Amino acid sequence: MKKVYNFSAGPAVLPSSVLKKVQDEMLDYADSGMSVMELSHRSSLFQAIIDDAECLLRELMSIPDHYSVLFLQGGASLQFSMIPMNLAQNKKVAYVNSGSWSEKAIEEALKIPDLTVDVIASSQQDQFKKVPTIPAVTADYDYLHITTNNTIEGTTYFEVPTGIEIPVIADMSSNILSSEYDVSDFGLIYAGAQKNIGPAGLTVVIIRKDLIRLVDNLPAMLDYSVQEKNNSMYNTPPTFAIYVAKLVFEWLKELGGVKSIEAINRKKAQLLYDYLDQSSLFSSPVERGSRSLTNIPFVTGDAAIDKQFVEEAEKAGFVNLKGHRSVGGMRASLYNAFPIEGVTALIEFMDTFTKKTEEAPLHVSN
Ligand SMILES: *Cc1c(COP(=O)(O)O)cnc(C)c1O
Repeated sequence: MKKVYNFSAGPAVLPSSVLKKVQDEMLDYADSGMSVMELSHRSSLFQAIIDDAECLLRELMSIPDHYSVLFLQGGASLQFSMIPMNLAQNKKVAYVNSGSWSEKAIEEALKIPDLTVDVIASSQQDQFKKVPTIPAVTADYDYLHITTNNTIEGTTYFEVPTGIEIPVIADMSSNILSSEYDVSDFGLIYAGAQKNIGPAGLTVVIIRKDLIRLVDNLPAMLDYSVQEKNNSMYNTPPTFAIYVAKLVFEWLKELGGVKSIEAINRKKAQLLYDYLDQSSLFSSPVERGSRSLTNIPFVTGDAAIDKQFVEEAEKAGFVNLKGHRSVGGMRASLYNAFPIEGVTALIEFMDTFTKKTEEAPLHVSN
């Protein structure tokens, strides 16, 4: 069997023990004679899966009772629209622009009729090499939207502003469950599952219950109150993705939860940053205080060498290291399921590549 280290930013690596369990249960789930994909979403077997998934996520993130957990579809990208549609009662919202995904969220909010969208902080002028400081916000905004981890630029808010009177909304797509956050600092947290939770097709929304209210003329699928009232089963939910997410939550719980995985993630990221900071060829373009644990961009400063590195790495089994097209260079995504051996192996490979590259001119003259 071919074995690779998958550095993809999403869909991303899953724990191999989870995939093995999926395989074991594939043809006959819990003595039902069928796979999870074939179960009715109204069956007691599936009800137990979705209940367990919610329970485990509540436990892992210490989600208080006055928050609802919703399992939705449409990706984090649909939340860019659902959030202003449902929460912008006073028609005035604040956004922080910390990178490409924040920009997309802002773009979608701007499409909502009569909505005032204020970008109250941005690090665009710094090419998003750090996260901007979040200023005080006035209470007349319906909410403040931030992106806790900027997947493309590799920056993170580890501290979230507290004492803000209005709900803080967080796009946590690429670092949910990989660092500890206090759910009660937020009004709403959302994340596409395909980075740290499970297969694509599932979107997790954690919302403070008092923010769920009836809005006139919203399509049912876009209405948090409809989704909540129907326990995420207004229509057929992504049953298989929810099942795999449940297994990932079990895996994480067994590892000791978010605190334990955060310590491991810090170790993995530190190894790579330490290497980059002393390297004569590679470097991190991100300011130290903002550096992400889950998405680590790096460059050589020469596009041709970057390209050669990505190609040779791919051949050696280090796949999906190419940086996002908007940033270039390389990016190593080190989500929860990415093993620490993969980081040390990558560093060794980078070292060999560096020596070869630096010796190359000699070879030419020989
Ligand atoms: C991947 C990502 C998205 C988009 O997620 P989809 O589920 O593909 O819509 C949005 N925000 C962030 C921070 C992401 O990393």
